[in-house]
Amino acid sequence: MNGRKLHIAIAGAGPAGLAAAFYLKRDGHKVTVFERFAEPKALGSGLILQPTGLTVLGDLGLLREILELGSRIDRLHGTDAESGRTVLDVRYDARSGGRFGVAVHRAALFGVLYRAARREKIEIVTDVELERIDTGENPRLLDASGRMVGPFDLVVDATGARSKLRGSVGLTDQPRPLEYGAFWASLAWRGEGFHPNALIQRYRRASVMIGVLPIGRAEPGGPDMAAFFWSLKPNEAERVRTEGLGAWKTRVASLWPECSAYLDQIDDFNQLTLARYGHHTLAKPAARGFAVIGDAAHSTSPQLGQGANMALLDAAALAHALRKHGEVDVALSAYARSRRAHIRLFQALSLAFTPFYQSDAVLLPFLRDRLVATVAKVPPAPQLLASIVAGTLADPFAAIGLAEADWLGLTKEVEIPA
Ligand SMILES: Cc1cc2nc3c(=O)[nH]c(=O)nc-3n(C[C@H](O)[C@H](O)[C@H](O)COP(=O)(O)OP(=O)(O)OC[C@H]3O[C@@H](n4cnc5c(N)ncnc54)[C@H](O)[C@@H]3O)c2cc1C
Repeated sequence: MNGRKLHIAIAGAGPAGLAAAFYLKRDGHKVTVFERFAEPKALGSGLILQPTGLTVLGDLGLLREILELGSRIDRLHGTDAESGRTVLDVRYDARSGGRFGVAVHRAALFGVLYRAARREKIEIVTDVELERIDTGENPRLLDASGRMVGPFDLVVDATGARSKLRGSVGLTDQPRPLEYGAFWASLAWRGEGFHPNALIQRYRRASVMIGVLPIGRAEPGGPDMAAFFWSLKPNEAERVRTEGLGAWKTRVASLWPECSAYLDQIDDFNQLTLARYGHHTLAKPAARGFAVIGDAAHSTSPQLGQGANMALLDAAALAHALRKHGEVDVALSAYARSRRAHIRLFQALSLAFTPFYQSDAVLLPFLRDRLVATVAKVPPAPQLLASIVAGTLADPFAAIGLAEADWLGLTKEVEIPA
């Protein structure tokens, strides 16, 4: 057990940075978070917290708070817009044990972590755009105006996929842009034939994916919301905007008439955020006095919905390694090792699955449609698919000192809102 208390700088107040700050402060370290926004906030619409991320939130004592805000997800279901054929069908509970996901508004996840950081009196310095790290005997951070902060015993890079910091210590891997991105919007939840506990999607081959995800409330007492998304190539977004909102809505409605209750809420392209995706995995997310966590260490398409969950697992893993090892650099190597297999597996699975659902391919969606309707229904395929979506195909918990949450007990104990 490491008794030494460190001065730790965390760059970035996203899910990875805030969760790491909470863990490390709780372990007695002096923690300062640096965030580029003047007012820390969450960007974007919704995401699914998988049993992995939920277990980390449970370990942080934040599970009840997030369950009260989010929407329990039991099933992911997609059909082909033309044939009506099922092309995606995953039930979390296929392995029994009562697993589920929880879809949340990004602001809900941010709010829960941010309030926890505030309660712990963690110092959060805002309006600082960090540019690079100066690796001397003890690392320091430099902002855009050349101002230096530090020294620190450890700097944690949690600045997301486009990190500028990792490059200054020679971790130069940049995300490779993926072909497809998406328009995302947060809208009022309307039900209207949509199940409150399922992600529902419509496809046309792999080039169109439309989805409606119930995401619960952004803040306590807020209205129920849904995330609505439409996949497209980022370089085609301008053409879609030029053709006009009416033309786009007509196209969406022609593929999925039932989603009119959501389309009717969109009367300006400004309501749609264009998300771009990139794929990268650092070979070793650590250097001397420097740890990389979350999207800064590995990013991918959200096809398998693992990114925020991986970020939370990284934060737990880093804290666990620092608790276990006396030397910071020994702990950093242990952190990298403890996450390696799980990250590599899920990065590879994301790369493998994405073209079946988001690409110009014709053969892959053809195969997908046949396989999902046949082979994917035969055990152990449903169990396998469920553990891929849950993030548990390879156990991510034991190596980082966690035990998976008791889902059945939890379901009995607390009322989990739809
Ligand atoms: C459309 C979309 C849908 C997704 N769906 C899912 C899903 O269903 N499930 C899932 O698990 N994941 C999903 N993801 C992925 C998920 O959002 C990310 O994996 C997650 O947000 C990563 O968290 P992070 O803290 O590492 O990085 P980020 O969330 O990117 O946070 C980085 C923080 O660092 C700050 N920052 C950046 N640069 C600097 C700088 N130079 N100086 C100071 N501060 C800086 C930023 O302002 C931000 O606050 C989705 C992503 C997208 C785009």
